Amino acid sequence: MKYTSQRGTKDILPSETPVWQRIEASCRRIFGLYNYAEIRTPVFEQTELFSRSIGTDTDIVSKEMYTFEDRGGRSLTLRPEETAPVVRACLQHNLISPENITKLWYMGPMFRYERPQAGRYRQFHQAGVEAFGSTDPMLDVEVIDMAVQLFREIGLTDLEVDINSVGCKKCRPEFIKKLTKYFTDKTSDLCDDCKKRLVKNPLRVLDCKIQGCQSIIKAAPAPVDSLCRECEEHFENVVACMDEQKIKYKINNRLVRGLDYYTGTTFEVVSDKLGAQNAVCGGGRYDDLVKELGGKPVPAVGFAIGLERLVGIIGSDVQSPKSDVVDVYLIAIGEKAKNIAFDLASGIRKAGFSADMDFHGKKLKSQLKLADRIGARFVLILGEDELNKGKIVFRDMSEGKQEEIKCDAATIVEVLEKNK
Ligand code: ATP
Ligand code: MG
Repeated sequence: MKYTSQRGTKDILPSETPVWQRIEASCRRIFGLYNYAEIRTPVFEQTELFSRSIGTDTDIVSKEMYTFEDRGGRSLTLRPEETAPVVRACLQHNLISPENITKLWYMGPMFRYERPQAGRYRQFHQAGVEAFGSTDPMLDVEVIDMAVQLFREIGLTDLEVDINSVGCKKCRPEFIKKLTKYFTDKTSDLCDDCKKRLVKNPLRVLDCKIQGCQSIIKAAPAPVDSLCRECEEHFENVVACMDEQKIKYKINNRLVRGLDYYTGTTFEVVSDKLGAQNAVCGGGRYDDLVKELGGKPVPAVGFAIGLERLVGIIGSDVQSPKSDVVDVYLIAIGEKAKNIAFDLASGIRKAGFSADMDFHGKKLKSQLKLADRIGARFVLILGEDELNKGKIVFRDMSEGKQEEIKCDAATIVEVLEKNK
């Protein structure tokens, strides 16, 4: 084969798109129920938008970005995530202010140069939400609840919500001091990446997936033990509200997420059906990001769901919906009949029924076989005889019954309506 899709990318084939459409429809429905509005941004942005927000020492920015120079000499990057572009768009179009709550959702492809494996691609899709304008812990819970409701609607139940707090710019420096102190005499046992992280951004060490580092990380100080009064209170309120809402969760002291902009609450939804890549959703608060990107200080909270991983869990359970089957297949014998059939097809579609016809000029028998194979519910046959009489054969494929009816779109649509 001459051309193939690139490593880490994949074609979503017609047999798979029904699952995707179902998930996408659920996202739209659930996000809409919570009054979130959709936003769509370009797939590439100025590189600095990402390095500034996600953080230069994160895995994403240091080794996973698709960065290139365009013909005008600008450094551009294919979006690795959507929070920064959404904030950029909000600032550019004045969508947020400290007085209002702005609720947005998005869905689309993201790009990261990662090592491809099950559940990890270089082009993948996320659906996510961002809520701007309030520090209310209840808003954190609303966002988490939205993810849980979405998973429930899709039919995923055995999921676990992990939550944590990573503190704010007031309490984090103190925590980082503690963390650095803890790791200092263990440096030689850490992986090479973590040795660098320890100098540049010690919090990132907690996010390391390497086995050798994991055992050291286990005994490391946890961010929750160093929270300032405000962060502590916020986290307590989040947890209390989760309890009240009866949303099941687990406090996971190690959960730091792979992006620097998080402050306070962080959370992840994990499924044990997914193996190593077990997170289907990641999110949290990012109260400093809007200001960092040039706006007024506006607190915010959001999440992103990895759609490939959702498809991976539910994929095989979903039947192709009926809408995939064509309502009417038109068989015409001869050039004149073909012209009429072409016209009829357009009339049938205008009435809201799907219609298809032969373009190979095949014989009646093989056309009937084809109609059967593609699952046509009704077949219309226009041969020379019918043509002369101004009639057309209307055949119900499921019952094998057929009748001759008047050959015009209005009559055909009437019969279709009756047999619906
Ligand atoms: P992970 O720990 O699995 O690398 P992450 O912390 O990098 O995830 P986020 O940046 O928070 O993930 O993205 C949110 C969600 O997007 C993840 O929970 C996951 O479901 C999905 N996701 C992230 N990276 C990929 C990828 N390369 N391929 C497929 N899905 C991904
Ligand atoms: Mg990652």
